[in-house]
Amino acid sequence: MSEVIRLLPDNIANQIAAGEVIQRPASVVKELIENAVDAKATKIELHIKDAGKTSIQIIDNGNGMSDTDARMCFERHATSKLSTADDLFNLKTKGFRGEALASIAAIAHVELETIESEASIGTKINIAGSKLETQEPAARRAGTSISVKNLFFNVPARRNFLKSDQVETKHIVEEFNRIALTHPEVGFKFSHNGNVLHDLNSSGLRKRIVDLFGMNFNDKLVPIEEETDLVKITGFIGKPEFARKTRGEQYFFVNNRYFKDNYLNHAVLKAYENLIQPKTYPAYFIYFEVPSSSIDVNIHPTKTEIKFEEDRNIYSILRSTIKLALGKYNIAPSLDFEREPQFDLTQDKQKQPIQAPEIKVDPSYNPFASSNRASTPSSGKSSSGFKSLKPNKEDWENFYEVAEEKSSASEEIEYEEHQGEEENKSSKKIQVHGKYVIVQVKSGLMLIHLNRAKERILYDQLMEQFMLSPISSQQLMFPFEYEMQSTQKLEWENNSTSLKRLGYEWEWKGKTIVLSGIPSFLEVEQVTTSLDSIVEKVTHEEIDKGELAHELIQSLASAASKSNPHKLSEEELNHVINELFQRSDHQYTANGKRILNTISIEELNNYFV
Ligand code: ADP
Ligand code: MG
Repeated sequence: MSEVIRLLPDNIANQIAAGEVIQRPASVVKELIENAVDAKATKIELHIKDAGKTSIQIIDNGNGMSDTDARMCFERHATSKLSTADDLFNLKTKGFRGEALASIAAIAHVELETIESEASIGTKINIAGSKLETQEPAARRAGTSISVKNLFFNVPARRNFLKSDQVETKHIVEEFNRIALTHPEVGFKFSHNGNVLHDLNSSGLRKRIVDLFGMNFNDKLVPIEEETDLVKITGFIGKPEFARKTRGEQYFFVNNRYFKDNYLNHAVLKAYENLIQPKTYPAYFIYFEVPSSSIDVNIHPTKTEIKFEEDRNIYSILRSTIKLALGKYNIAPSLDFEREPQFDLTQDKQKQPIQAPEIKVDPSYNPFASSNRASTPSSGKSSSGFKSLKPNKEDWENFYEVAEEKSSASEEIEYEEHQGEEENKSSKKIQVHGKYVIVQVKSGLMLIHLNRAKERILYDQLMEQFMLSPISSQQLMFPFEYEMQSTQKLEWENNSTSLKRLGYEWEWKGKTIVLSGIPSFLEVEQVTTSLDSIVEKVTHEEIDKGELAHELIQSLASAASKSNPHKLSEEELNHVINELFQRSDHQYTANGKRILNTISIEELNNYFV
């Protein structure tokens, strides 16, 4: 019997590969602009005709190619970007598979003109259906120009499958936006059938967003910034009042690559909960930086999903980062972000810490146990080498001054002007049964629920600490045993990264968990309660897994704050109240219970009519 297996000719193999890489004109646009960025271009032009169906041209001022490379680049697996397998885990470029040009040349008429920097003459190549037609010298000043005509000329099924010009153009615009947003430092020009759609100068991110989406965006953006041991998050989010009925501008990037992620999108929406109308969507431009080893980069070129190793923790970090940014923006409109009236900030400048107040975390601080620390709540020092953030300079008094500047429509409560005497200030706080505090404020009386105030403070501190790095663990002298059911054990293990981050350390004896370490802030007597509530939360089907860290921290904060009512010393009380008013969410606990209430003078008067 004769052999039947044959190797496919290159042109057919390329055509098959092309089916995966190039689905529509927008895929060509993406690949070619990415190549120009990889070639270190500082100015890139994109000109399309008939939604890219007739022609797509990209002109860049990048490194260019030699005569030989200009031919080589159309070979399959021809890439200058990878030489060893290890490089794959340390990629700095957009491309690395060496598939795009080979695929495009298999299904279109391609003309490439390029010149290597410092060369006196460039080269021009024509290739169609993977066949090199001509190569000749060409005069050219710098960089590369590549034009792709008659896409899918030899794959009629594909060509017929293309959608209307309007739809295909939308796809191209979307690809263009994604790349323009990842490289604000690069200038871009974009024209369709001779009409210039964008002419973007090199700029900072904020200006790039405004240039792409319109001047009115400038007032809609709130910057976000957070850096932890797992992830660095930067970018901008839209103010809640500008949320729209359509999804619109929602962009995630990881290590400067666009990606889609429903799970993290959910984290964003959670942070906006109660701030926007149901079925409306905030804009966001969020940039994650993670070690490249913690994501799978070897994803398919056209796929935009990415798998994070630490996705659950990143979910919590993202949610809190956004909540914090929205909180700052709500409380202190005058401080919320640097305005850039002249738009001259480079991206580097923008990356500097934003000016809004930051909450300092002191991991060793326990708001309930200590009274002697009360005098140094924002010393900015940390006892455990913990990364310290800038201390929040505002105390609650000038916090209220800021609130006063805000519109009178806000329902903020204003403290009565104090006479400047410390004694006077504190004499206005009265504790009731160790449970409530009454404070005289401008509009009447303010009532504070003490345990809930403590719960809010602890929750914020734990959340912030949890985001930055694992919470320290206290070693137990005697291991603590607790029996679980099989499903509980399974769910515990499913959430082991978060639980370890909270400070739990354990081994198993069958279904009995043997704890050797517990979160440092928990009292030993609170361990059982904490385990009860964790087990309840992890096995509770209705709790979204991404919300788990929040749920756990919330229940731990609640458990730890329920100390027996006893009268706090003057100093302790001042400290708790000071801390409370440094929180952006000082009105409610993390699970939505009221911390503050006011009784107006009118209401008081009503008691006596
Ligand atoms: P990849 O980007 O994965 O390496 P491509 O098929 O997109 O694969 O490109 C192949 C090679 O051609 C690149 O590695 C690069 O060396 C070269 N190349 C492509 N486009 C350009 C360009 N605009 N300027 C300079 N070199 C380019
Ligand atoms: Mg490429």
